[in-house]
Amino acid sequence: MKTTTEAQKIIFKDGKMVVPNKVLIPFIEGDGTGPDIWKATKKVLDAAIKIAFKGEREISWVEVLAGQKAFDSTKDWLPKETIEKVKDLKVSIKGPLTTPTGGGIRSLNVALRQIFDLYACVRPVRYFEGVSSPVKKPELVDLIIFRENIEDVYSGIEFKKDTKEVKSLIDFLKSLGHTVRADSGIGIKPISEFGSKRLVRKAIQYAIQNKKPSVTLVHKGNIQKFTEGAFCEWGYEVASDEFCDETVSEKELYEEHNGTAPSGKIIIKDRIADNMFQQLLIRPNEYSVIATTNLNGDYLSDACAAQVGGLGIAPGANIGDEIAIFEATHGTAPKYANQDKVNPGSMILSGVMMLEHLGWNEAGELINKAFAKTIKQKRVTYDLERQMTGATLLKTSQFADAIIENML
Ligand code: NAP
Repeated sequence: MKTTTEAQKIIFKDGKMVVPNKVLIPFIEGDGTGPDIWKATKKVLDAAIKIAFKGEREISWVEVLAGQKAFDSTKDWLPKETIEKVKDLKVSIKGPLTTPTGGGIRSLNVALRQIFDLYACVRPVRYFEGVSSPVKKPELVDLIIFRENIEDVYSGIEFKKDTKEVKSLIDFLKSLGHTVRADSGIGIKPISEFGSKRLVRKAIQYAIQNKKPSVTLVHKGNIQKFTEGAFCEWGYEVASDEFCDETVSEKELYEEHNGTAPSGKIIIKDRIADNMFQQLLIRPNEYSVIATTNLNGDYLSDACAAQVGGLGIAPGANIGDEIAIFEATHGTAPKYANQDKVNPGSMILSGVMMLEHLGWNEAGELINKAFAKTIKQKRVTYDLERQMTGATLLKTSQFADAIIENML
């Protein structure tokens, strides 16, 4: 007689994630085009898991509400039950969410990152053959960006011009010998040693696990010495204090090793943010893992995504020590809602990141290969079709079916 095992939740034992073969994973469908891309994503993920593990592993999806769908049914943009489920089940996936207007939560995405302390925004950027790109050699881009997700000018400490708070801040700064114009608004940029070190630690751990050649600390330390500059110093400290057997700094590389990294060692380098933008355009293959502060990372990840064909296929994840939320990086594109039209690539590839996070790499690899093959066959959604010659235009659901066909 066939026995069916109950789906179980992910647990942490001695700091390590334990994933059951039949695992409970919450999903937030998302608003606007969210339902279309989620349907396609679920189909692709389920098919890949089934093929890769021959039915031995399975995701049991648990819907949780957020955004417009949550507001319409509960009058709450982010219900308490959603927060509890995401916390309890540890790993989730979400579609894009409408940003509520008119008070309350500023941004649901920022709220989720702060509630669960998801301090690393992780964005891999790679090229898929056939996608139209504005650069000559997009295939040289193969990066993963670790962006600090909580601090910096995103911490939400801002004061409006002419308020009593801004006036007292201006007076306080005056007492420290700094002149700020009276008609200024002021934003605060906190960057901590704790926040910087845990982000860089995650980036180095990733580089070690995935045998990457280098980790580059991107900062604006030449100007902002005690925030951006300190981020860079703390990054080097993490590398030398905690990973001295696995890493070598670029300085040591030239002073002690004639410019060649000792076998198996990861090079830790740093670049000033403005230089990094041009470096990534002219010599992208010299960079692999990037660790950077919040604002730099925000700009840099979209610029890199554009280099390989745009945000439509850019995946992302927000990761903390135990909790992780994988998400499409674009918005809800409401004008295309329920038309079965938009590209589900960003969410599908975020799903691949999630499978890799679970340690289910075989299924992720299957999707990666089938995804690349489908694009090479020029069977694509409208956004890529309009930039290709001789492409076949597919709907969202047809694109998912084409990927599954290419897995078999
Ligand atoms: P958007 O939804 O990203 O859409 C901007 C444009 O990007 C679309 O008009 C479309 O371009 C293209 N696009 C987006 N998703 C696509 C997909 N899956 N496939 C192909 N093309 C895609 O940005 P928005 O219009 O500024 O924002 C709409 C709402 O989304 C807002 O409420 C915003 O706050 C929210 N938002 C949410 C997130 C999130 O949840 N992570 C992120 C950003 C924005 P074309 O018009 O050229 O076809």
